[in-house]
Amino acid sequence: MPATSAPRAARFSLPDAAGHFGPYGGIFVPETLMAALEELETVYGEARVDPLFQKELRRHLSEFAGRPTPLYFAERLTQHCGGAKIYLKREDLLHTGAHKINNAIGQALLAVRMGKKRVIAETGAGQHGVATASVCAKFGLECVVYMGAVDMERQALNVFRMRLMGAEVRSVDAGQKTLKEAINEAMRDWVTNVRTTHYILGTAYGAKPYPEMVRDFHRVIGAEAKEQILAREGRLPDELVACVGGGSNAIGLFFEFLDEPSVKMTGVEAGGRGIRKGDHAARFAGGKLGVLQGCKTYILQDPDGQIELTHSVSAGLDYAAVGPEHAFYRDKGRIDYAYATDDEVLETFQLCSRLEGIIPALESTHALVHGMKRARALGPEKIIIVNLSGRGDKDVQQVAKLLGEKL
Ligand SMILES: *Cc1c(COP(=O)(O)O)cnc(C)c1O
Repeated sequence: MPATSAPRAARFSLPDAAGHFGPYGGIFVPETLMAALEELETVYGEARVDPLFQKELRRHLSEFAGRPTPLYFAERLTQHCGGAKIYLKREDLLHTGAHKINNAIGQALLAVRMGKKRVIAETGAGQHGVATASVCAKFGLECVVYMGAVDMERQALNVFRMRLMGAEVRSVDAGQKTLKEAINEAMRDWVTNVRTTHYILGTAYGAKPYPEMVRDFHRVIGAEAKEQILAREGRLPDELVACVGGGSNAIGLFFEFLDEPSVKMTGVEAGGRGIRKGDHAARFAGGKLGVLQGCKTYILQDPDGQIELTHSVSAGLDYAAVGPEHAFYRDKGRIDYAYATDDEVLETFQLCSRLEGIIPALESTHALVHGMKRARALGPEKIIIVNLSGRGDKDVQQVAKLLGEKL
């Protein structure tokens, strides 16, 4: 299995020494966190070129998380669309149900390396919280997860999962009581307990070194997919599609292909009820340059810089800002961005379940919506890989309710 190894080409020179991807990224945090971020950067810098660390990481990814994940030819979805071949990268088969475990394992190993015995994390839908609780149990680390009170109610099952694995879930009652407030609380905790505590951030976002580090822990997705499609089809895919919340599963799939000009890439954001203020979370469709939670990037905000309300049927894409590396590649025209609406997602969620026997996460279904549109537009000689970032078990109750089914 390919390692998350050291830089080797031009694309690898990003971010620069100050954590910038062009005008995006950086380190916008309280001074009290600077020492911790510098320590993390140093330790990660050593670990990424340490063959023993990489070997241990690969072992846990294989034995604990279940890598490599299959690249699956979705034959019936392909027939249904009547165009390009659709392949699914099956991150949904990973332990705890989504790609998030790749990063959680990597950062837990770094916490151990730094001698930090306490871990904190934020979570929205609960997927990152569950992944973090799981790795903390495995490595014997104390675990505190911050979660908005509204999300705790919506995702009661994931709250109980985390508690079963020994994590303490702390309810956050401020503001909208969702992910943004949970991140604020986690950062407050980190400032207070920085000497003993590592903050496992759940996406390719935040202050340097998080966007780059989280990306690197997910690069294994694209590295495997490249090997698998070459073995299966003898050539590179024509298009890659992945959903974009903070951006970690997407950049994880895309990164290994950035140097391949023939491969088109599209990130899919949450179009919610449509692109109107407060009804969506498509940062590239309505956002402007700003700073939020450590990072300069595209943000959904009002003219005064106040963060706008966001909406998506999928909690994992429901965030007002997007990872800085995506903003950079969007400016460069190297990655395109589209969105899928709640209605499209609900329909495709059922279609994929029925045709393939795979219940996709609502987040991943956004990618599927766009992948299927592209498949219809392209001929049968073309190949599309869609990142199935997670499984939909966590979403079935919500979907039943939306469809008016009584369970
Ligand atoms: C969290 C989550 C996402 C969104 O996060 P990214 O960092 O953008 O990948 C997407 N899919 C699933 C299944 C998730 O749990």
